[in-house]
Amino acid sequence: MLHYFSDTYEHSRMRFRESLSNIKEFWPQAGLHSYPIGNKEDNTIDVIKSEAIKRNENVVFITTGEHGIEGYTGAAALQMFFEEYLHKLDPETTGIYFVHGINPWGMRHWRRVTENNIDLNRNYIQDWLNHPATFNEDYKKNADLYNPAGEIDDLTKQNTKIHSKLLKNLIKEGYKGVKSAKSKGQYQFEKGVYYGGAGYEDSTSVMMNIQDEVLRHFEHIVHIDLHTGLGPTQELTYVISAYDDRSEHEVSDYYGIKNVQKNGKEDGVGESNNFFYRRAMEYYPERSLITGLFEIGTMGEGMDDQLNVMKAVINENQLYWYGAEKEKDAQRIFDSFRDLYYPKEKEWKESAIIRLREGFENLLSKENLLKGTSTRSSSL
Ligand SMILES: [Zn+2]
Repeated sequence: MLHYFSDTYEHSRMRFRESLSNIKEFWPQAGLHSYPIGNKEDNTIDVIKSEAIKRNENVVFITTGEHGIEGYTGAAALQMFFEEYLHKLDPETTGIYFVHGINPWGMRHWRRVTENNIDLNRNYIQDWLNHPATFNEDYKKNADLYNPAGEIDDLTKQNTKIHSKLLKNLIKEGYKGVKSAKSKGQYQFEKGVYYGGAGYEDSTSVMMNIQDEVLRHFEHIVHIDLHTGLGPTQELTYVISAYDDRSEHEVSDYYGIKNVQKNGKEDGVGESNNFFYRRAMEYYPERSLITGLFEIGTMGEGMDDQLNVMKAVINENQLYWYGAEKEKDAQRIFDSFRDLYYPKEKEWKESAIIRLREGFENLLSKENLLKGTSTRSSSL
């Protein structure tokens, strides 16, 4: 299974592009579309798509790389999907949309954010004019904790400092306050972590058009956005939109997926998933939209794990902007960040593929998209 993984953006993209010929065996009209993002390097969002051959009843819509570095696992899962699932879909009634590298710069440079330091999953604001930059109070209060400035002179000392500040906050504001500083995103500190921007990123605009296109063309849309980092280690967590009216429990029972989490409405204000769901409710209420994230956990969910996550993210950001005095500190920071979003261990990679395969299987069979497993009555 390790052969599905690439370690450079260019290699990953090349393999994705080369998959077109395989896909065309099932969807002869499938095409590859590349959208340039930024102008410094050859970074593109790549989309392979096709309408259904006879009737656009369903679409399988899989997106990857919204958080740059997480795209390596996303791209590996796509390779697995192409090998194992294409022949199980019905091209007569099912279209396909596969997206590689929503944040290509981040993927190339092993960061989560874009070249403008923007977390794309905080960038889908409905109305920028009515979205105050200062809306995340918890973050603002602790801006010096989340955005330390200056070169990192000693990582061990720095970690102790961050850790004790985080603990102090925990006591003062509780776990919820610390968590919300993170999950809400922030719109005020351009060089800070969890920054959502002040307008749409190019990647966001491209993806919004694709979301719209899918909603226009297909009746029943099954969208899966692939991520890493959240949830129990080496397990799959299915994250659904805050606007989905099903409960976590219902969704878990229905699909047979153990870990299900629902976004918050306020916490998830800039999230792509929530944006997509609301868009569908407002403009395409007749569509059936199933949209969610598959996350593969790396660190775990305990309080200590979460503190380590924040430390790793804060350090990586400071290293990017200000550098580190010692080369070995820089390496340690990069390694912890990598462990968080793209672990190099064979065991993690293998279980990621196994979990994602189970997730595809559970979701797509319940949504009646896999041949031979249909439970929907047919009028044949
Ligand atoms: Zn992510």
